[in-house]
Amino acid sequence: MARRRATPKGRRKRKWRKAAGRLALRAAKAGAGALLAYLTERTRGRRPAAVAGQAEPEPRPAEARAQPKEDDPTRTIPNRHDVVVFGAGPAGNTAAYLLARKGLDVLLIERGPVPGSKSIGGASLYVQTWLWAVPELVPALFEEHPYERVITRQEFWFLTEDCMVNMGVSGPAFARPPYNRLSALKSRLDPWMAGKAVQAGATLLSGYRVDQVIKNGGRAVGVRVDHEVDTGSGKTRDLFADVVVVAEGVNPIVSHRAGYVKLPKATTQTLYVKETFALPPEEISRRLGCPGDEGAVIGIYGYPSAGLNGTGSIYTNRESIGINVGASVDGLAKAGLNPNQFLERVKAHPSFRRLLEGSKTIEYSAHLIPDAGFNDVPKLVHDGAVILGDTACLCNGIYGIVPAMVSASAAAEAIFAAKERGDFSRKGLKSYAELLSRTFAWRDLRINRMAAGFLQKHPRVFDLSTSALAAAAHAGAMSYAETSRQRRWRILRSVRRVAPLSRLLREAAEAAWVEY
Ligand SMILES: Cc1cc2nc3c(=O)[nH]c(=O)nc-3n(C[C@H](O)[C@H](O)[C@H](O)COP(=O)(O)OP(=O)(O)OC[C@H]3O[C@@H](n4cnc5c(N)ncnc54)[C@H](O)[C@@H]3O)c2cc1C
Repeated sequence: MARRRATPKGRRKRKWRKAAGRLALRAAKAGAGALLAYLTERTRGRRPAAVAGQAEPEPRPAEARAQPKEDDPTRTIPNRHDVVVFGAGPAGNTAAYLLARKGLDVLLIERGPVPGSKSIGGASLYVQTWLWAVPELVPALFEEHPYERVITRQEFWFLTEDCMVNMGVSGPAFARPPYNRLSALKSRLDPWMAGKAVQAGATLLSGYRVDQVIKNGGRAVGVRVDHEVDTGSGKTRDLFADVVVVAEGVNPIVSHRAGYVKLPKATTQTLYVKETFALPPEEISRRLGCPGDEGAVIGIYGYPSAGLNGTGSIYTNRESIGINVGASVDGLAKAGLNPNQFLERVKAHPSFRRLLEGSKTIEYSAHLIPDAGFNDVPKLVHDGAVILGDTACLCNGIYGIVPAMVSASAAAEAIFAAKERGDFSRKGLKSYAELLSRTFAWRDLRINRMAAGFLQKHPRVFDLSTSALAAAAHAGAMSYAETSRQRRWRILRSVRRVAPLSRLLREAAEAAWVEY
């Protein structure tokens, strides 16, 4: 009997059944987390480099790995270095600078065409942290001016739909050297810092994405880089080093693949959306009450986070104002809000409309911040590798540049000591974790370790406390034909309308206990 020819539909079905079978087998072997990583890679059209649980790739034979093609811009870069740092953010740049200054041969790799081009955001720089981590860079920080304005006004706005309570501190006390805080755009700061690492002797390789950490017998011995940052060209190059410094930021794709960190959870990631608005410098100074080239940083609570636990901020740059708003990824998903709606809501508030009148949008983007803090810090030291900054969850709320620079300084000291002993094993590098644990940045993370759990347990605490404050302030400011005792009762009643007093007091006491 003649065999029936398979219809195109039947062939497609068989193909899918086979593919599903292969995926199920892979899931059983590698576990669901690894499958997710594998699928992510597949949907991006790239061959997954390694799946956790499978044998890690061995370095390719010398003749295969060291043959850059004629048109490959890396061909002038040697195959071997003392240290390879990947990620030219505050963590990677600080580490590269400090190590190069000590005379080590450092290769700094950044996937953006220039450092900072993949970054968003305004950032506050704390001069005292710079004096702690990189004191010799501080004179250049002021002479070369990679920052925007000296912050002399710090405010907190507690907003509801129709009321604002404003608290702040400002004045010439903040306008005296060495100053307290500076505002900066990461897109200017990161290239400036990478430039300092290069001046100190490091080699910068921009526009190359590290695809994987190369291991030999479980020990990191280098990285595999790809020039096609977004699509993956398949034309890779292997670069070797005694130590690999992992500073890839909040999306730990490579370090997860290497088995160094877990994939972040939606409950412990805050998604910030940011828009930057151009305005003439004198108009910025006038609207925010900052004389000359002084600036303001304003923390915003309540209304911007639409009932979720989240915050916002306003940064003044030289010729622009940046507005960030963020909330937990999990919270946004549950509320069915997309990041753009979140920001548009804020821009429509009367306080923001006045601030932004006549401005022009020059930047819009979104970025994650790791929020789990101390509880999710992974093992920082591995054979031949150390993990810094956001990749290691070393971030306290929004302030991540401080722990990033502090971790880089501790890691640089440990790597230098390991180099002198010629021991790059986990044991040889372990002083990184020890040095870091003695710093103020680490102790601060530890003190705040219950904050993430507190926020998950009380998902409306920001909203309720701001609304209660605004209700009390509004009721207190209103005057009626009444005695002062009647006025006090009226204020109390308006607060009770927000939430039962027992709940507000309990949450306030708990917040003080967890030192949030
Ligand atoms: C909106 C917003 C506002 C913020 N405000 C402040 C603030 O005021 N003060 C503060 O202290 N912190 C602030 N932060 C947090 C701060 O920006 C981060 O904590 C800090 O930048 C972390 O530094 P990092 O070097 O670890 O990572 P990043 O700065 O993220 O740098 C990582 C770098 O690695 C590169 N990279 C990633 N993957 C690869 C790869 N595979 N190969 C090569 N390169 C790679 C990236 O392109 C990037 O340049 C803010 C964050 C956001 C989102």
